[in-house]
Amino acid sequence: MTGTKAQVLVVGLGPAGAAAAEAAATAGAHVLAIDRRAQVGVPVQCAEFVPMMLGVETAAVSAARVQDISTMATYVREAAADITPDFRGHMIDRAAFDAALVARARAAGAEVRLATSLRAIAPDGTCTLSDGTRLTPRVLIGADGPRSRVGQAVGMANRDLMETRQITVDLPAPYEATDIFLRPEIEGGYAWLFPKGKVANLGLGILPARKAMLKPLLDELHAELLAARRVGPKIHAHTGGLIPTGGIVGLAAQLGETQVLLAGDAAGLVNPITGAGINPAVLSGRMAGQAAAAFLHGDAQAPEEYAQEARDLFGPSIALALTRRRDLLAAYALCGPDDAALRRGWIAYDQYWSRTPANALSEVKEPA
Ligand SMILES: Cc1cc2nc3c(=O)[nH]c(=O)nc-3n(C[C@H](O)[C@H](O)[C@H](O)COP(=O)(O)OP(=O)(O)OC[C@H]3O[C@@H](n4cnc5c(N)ncnc54)[C@H](O)[C@@H]3O)c2cc1C
Repeated sequence: MTGTKAQVLVVGLGPAGAAAAEAAATAGAHVLAIDRRAQVGVPVQCAEFVPMMLGVETAAVSAARVQDISTMATYVREAAADITPDFRGHMIDRAAFDAALVARARAAGAEVRLATSLRAIAPDGTCTLSDGTRLTPRVLIGADGPRSRVGQAVGMANRDLMETRQITVDLPAPYEATDIFLRPEIEGGYAWLFPKGKVANLGLGILPARKAMLKPLLDELHAELLAARRVGPKIHAHTGGLIPTGGIVGLAAQLGETQVLLAGDAAGLVNPITGAGINPAVLSGRMAGQAAAAFLHGDAQAPEEYAQEARDLFGPSIALALTRRRDLLAAYALCGPDDAALRRGWIAYDQYWSRTPANALSEVKEPA
């Protein structure tokens, strides 16, 4: 190694990497954590909703909380909203959230380098960073998002991805629901309006093949909501990004003597229907960091146990979402989804959760 005595290299300082760096450093490992961004969490590429449970487990949520969410309102085509009561969570300032997680990693003793990219990974695990550092860590944690370079190096890369576009607009009146818009023209995705105090995130996710429709569909929805006086005309910010929708790609591998662990989006730990990935990123990152430290302390089984525990925790919900997504996309191949198919493909409806024998038989299994 040159320039560092790190035993654990964490690539990416989103929620997964920051949680991993904190956990590994807390358990006594020498951790170097890098991110190519110059400022943690900026630009924000997120609709910024987290479930209530994450707030209970993670102090960074209170540092970044903007408002609470109490219900979900789902609009199927132009019909009136179906209300899901007791859908509780928080809207956060995602940049503040990521910064709070990184501050905790630093406080635990992790060395953090921003504006520093992972440039290359050799087959023996040697990593070359953009600042010239070369190191062969004992554990390499890939928390580098949907297009993970670490994942690619071990042949575990996300192949199915959703394209998104989001604007931030004014919200004339306080609002406590997350609005979901299901329409056949939003192929393989949906649109959302998430309130955040005096503004709201209005966005859309769609299949990559329909990427050209992102802007016109979002403009149309903005105009509709504007006409209904639900949002203002001014666009304060634009963002977008990729969301993995293909399920878990893999969690543990080896490059020479280097143990490789993937966490968060890099591992495909995102719900393929909702696109929610912050909670699994934090939890899997924490688990990966703990496994890295346990491995350094002599527990040779720790990487495999991490992989198994993460599959046990996230696998069932991801497998169900994959099944629903596959069925929804199959409906497009016929004559397009009707209202029943749209409902069966969304978490607000009983049909999504019902496991009839026929559904169980068709369920997509996670790869071992
Ligand atoms: C538009 C949009 C809206 C979303 N809304 C929500 C939502 O409301 N709720 C929710 O739960 N999820 C949402 N998600 C998903 C959520 O943002 C992700 O699941 C979450 O950010 C995953 O965290 P992560 O740490 O795994 O990856 P990321 O947050 O993507 O972090 C990866 C980090 O790795 C860094 N990196 C990448 N390559 C390198 C490299 N070679 N060298 C160094 N650093 C590198 C990046 O700069 C980045 O900081 C949304 C996603 C999008 C795109």
